Amino acid sequence: SAHVVILGAGHAGGTAAALLRQYGHTGPITLIGDEPIPPYQRPPLSKAWLKGEADADSLALKPLEFYAEHDIDFRPSTRAERLERSAQLVHLADGSTVHYDVLILATGARAIALPIEGADLDGVMFLRTAADAERLKAAVGPGKKLAVVGGGYIGLEVAASGRALGADVVVLEREERLLARVACEVLSDFFRTYHERHGVTFELGCSVVGFEGRGGHVTGVKLADGRTIACDAVVVGVGAAPNDELADDCGLETARGVVVDLQARSSDPNIFAIGDVAHRPMPIYGRMFRMESVPNALEQAKQAASAITGRPAPAGEAPWQWSDQYDLKLQIAGYAFDADEILVRGDPASGKFAVFHLKGDQLQSVEAINAPPEFMMGRQLILNRKSVDKAKLADPSVSMKEVAA
Ligand code: FAD
Repeated sequence: SAHVVILGAGHAGGTAAALLRQYGHTGPITLIGDEPIPPYQRPPLSKAWLKGEADADSLALKPLEFYAEHDIDFRPSTRAERLERSAQLVHLADGSTVHYDVLILATGARAIALPIEGADLDGVMFLRTAADAERLKAAVGPGKKLAVVGGGYIGLEVAASGRALGADVVVLEREERLLARVACEVLSDFFRTYHERHGVTFELGCSVVGFEGRGGHVTGVKLADGRTIACDAVVVGVGAAPNDELADDCGLETARGVVVDLQARSSDPNIFAIGDVAHRPMPIYGRMFRMESVPNALEQAKQAASAITGRPAPAGEAPWQWSDQYDLKLQIAGYAFDADEILVRGDPASGKFAVFHLKGDQLQSVEAINAPPEFMMGRQLILNRKSVDKAKLADPSVSMKEVAA
């Protein structure tokens, strides 16, 4: 039966390989990835692993033996350079080719670099891979000064972990508030206060124009207002861009990500795209977009593996993700695309609350801090698109069960 080639051995690719076998695919499976290790989880790289609370083995999705045991030809440190669709070939960096019947693109995304002076200095880092995380961990510790460029989730998680490791941390953010692209102001303010209480300093509304160094190593971050912020290391966390060049170059439909349908199938019926590299439909919102989250990678791996093995399509899900900082667990469901009202349930000062985003009386998104019932019930309400009673929702003395009833 069909030879399935999976390009990119990350969270999505590794999961798709395992699911194909679980769903009964008997043909050959080849899993090609340019990193030296088997598929692993990235979320702990900025959280538990960075703080030293999780070891390297716990990051792996499956132990290395799993792939051979399940007859999955896993090829680490192997980079694909080009797709030749007419011949159904993947061209590898060493000049060899692999023929596919079905191809799954799971090439993920990469950290966006800042095209500024000194960006190539030693000590100016990104956090995308396990190798990046090793470098970062070696550079932070008691008394070290860490500058984080970008006040998004990864930047804030690195800041919290950096504090836990005893480093001095300053976060430099271009916008006037944290998490500006991804969360509402209530959350921005809450996180800022929480981080400041843990000793993080912030420079908001500031523009980073370059890095200074001595002997090839970074010593400071230069700002547009003329100041230089001294530091021993820098993490640049200003977002990620999809690795969709292979798809683009061979004429697949792309739109900052490979355009796919609800089966994760691209404009070429023999090629699927899943995870961070895919631009996918989100029926709840009647839109297409690209998501960067583990639950999305898992959902799309399921969609592709189901379609390839002829199983019924999996049930739709409401998108969600999480972030851990200090003792805070932030869980987010949905996206507040067209929300016209924000409702806060609980008191942010208590460290346990939820922010609901509504369009009319329909829930679009919930951001829950240390509030699992609000997150779980909210996620259900988003998926079911049921009308909600706003007065009940805003009243923490009414249980979420009752709100969702
Ligand atoms: P990836 O995991 O990036 O895998 C893609 C793989 O393909 C990579 O190994 C890449 O090197 C390889 N590749 C690319 N091009 C080629 C090529 N041409 N040839 C061969 N191989 C190639 N999500 C959450 O939901 N919650 C979190 O708390 C969270 N925290 C995160 C923290 C960090 C530090 C990072 C970096 C991400 C975090 N994410 C989180 C996002 C989540 O990890 C991603 O959404 C997920 O990894 C996407 O899986 P993927 O397989 O699509 O891409």
